[in-house]
Amino acid sequence: MKLSNLTLSTPYLSLDPIFFHEIAPTPLKNPRLISANLKAAKLLNSTLELHHEELENILNGTFMLKGSRPYAMCYAGHQFGYYVQRLGDGRAINLGSVNGLNLQLKGSGITRYSRQGDGRAVLRSSIREYLMSEAMHALSIPTSRALAIIGSDEKVAREQWERGAIVLRLSPSWIRFGSFEYFFHTNKHKELESLADFLLQESFPHLVGVEEAYLKMYGEIVMRTAELMAQWQSVGFNHGVMNTDNMSAIGITIDYGPFAFMDTFESGYICNHTDSGGRYSYDNQPRIGYWNLERLAHALSPLITTEKLQLELEKYGNYFTTKLMTLLRDKLGLDTPHEKDSDLLRVLFTLMENGRIDMTPFFRTLSQYDGNREKLLLLTLAPNQLNEWLDRYDERLALNSSSVEERHQQMLRTNPKYVLKNYILQEAIDAAEKDDFTLVNNLLMLAQNPYDEHPDFERYAGITPQQHTNLKLSCSS
Ligand code: AMP
Ligand code: MG
Repeated sequence: MKLSNLTLSTPYLSLDPIFFHEIAPTPLKNPRLISANLKAAKLLNSTLELHHEELENILNGTFMLKGSRPYAMCYAGHQFGYYVQRLGDGRAINLGSVNGLNLQLKGSGITRYSRQGDGRAVLRSSIREYLMSEAMHALSIPTSRALAIIGSDEKVAREQWERGAIVLRLSPSWIRFGSFEYFFHTNKHKELESLADFLLQESFPHLVGVEEAYLKMYGEIVMRTAELMAQWQSVGFNHGVMNTDNMSAIGITIDYGPFAFMDTFESGYICNHTDSGGRYSYDNQPRIGYWNLERLAHALSPLITTEKLQLELEKYGNYFTTKLMTLLRDKLGLDTPHEKDSDLLRVLFTLMENGRIDMTPFFRTLSQYDGNREKLLLLTLAPNQLNEWLDRYDERLALNSSSVEERHQQMLRTNPKYVLKNYILQEAIDAAEKDDFTLVNNLLMLAQNPYDEHPDFERYAGITPQQHTNLKLSCSS
């Protein structure tokens, strides 16, 4: 089946017009397809094929899919702790949904919510979002997906002139914490309730008609957000802009900006260059997840009593810790919980920081640990600490019921060989700026198969070259 034969629906437009702005995309000059993602296409229809020209036209807004009525969504949000009354899709335009996924163009021109912005996204950040959402998905981390990306000759002004690009993103929902905040802070409680009903129908259908459905939905959002934070922490992912408008109401990773996979482990790492205070540093993420859920609870307070919301929110810490411990035990190949595990992990993270250990190659090497420590000790600047820890790890492994071989297999499926560190993404961006999209497509393949061996790309599995380690990224995108 061809993409142009899909029929979309637009249930969001059944809400009051205050929720959106119907607006057509503004095409880019000389669009060209950079990459298409067949895996994501299969989510729309299992027989879908992707064709070059068709994709260019759909992403550029010059071909409208059947049933599509493009619109931008209205929302507000707390940005760096301060409430901003009206944000909204300033550069994203929704096309409609099919098979439970909402198709959204990012970078397709101005909308009512663009404020001072130009409605565009640059090639650099579009490639980053396109690849990273696929990488996160392959690591089993809930995320929006991406169907395709186009570049263009459209000039876009940032710190320097760059070229415009558009990503076609997919998500079961684009509703954000900030969507609820918008209606709460403008005292529109009837609309607040309509939005809650819409989200229930769209993403929590099992709760429709259930007693205290709004409360239960909030409870699930708390759980999903807590678990998402645990997943980010476990792989060393720093999102960088956890404003409430970038927090998905279904607890998935959205709005990829100056994010980073950490290179050497650094608990206070800040990927976002403009975040001088470190509000969104790596180690603050779980706390910020909680703070954002508090803002959501406040926004929902006309619908649910504060006491009940608070009781749900209080479960956050337990959800987070339970999930994190499970993920980290899996990373270490520990097959049953033990009371000393949290201490073993605490010491490990301290020594990773002290020894400037690059997380990804470390856990991957540990996945084949058989008592010979040579390769592991080469990865740290503090070998004595690692040696002492490995003594404890050996003792702990003795309590496992699985065999060494079983542990190796399980750990190799848990600890990726390839994550898309920023320097790797930058290589693909540099080539794409020269109209060579080969590496973007190669990285898509790597991103989607992070646990496999890829001998041609072995160098991306090693320690990040020092000059590229833990850099900060600009927010302008
Ligand atoms: P972000 O931090 O990228 O999620 O963006 C925050 C808000 O600014 C959202 O409402 C975006 O839609 C809007 N925005 C960001 N960049 C642009 C742009 N170039 N043009 C219009 N709106 C933008
Ligand atoms: Mg955003």
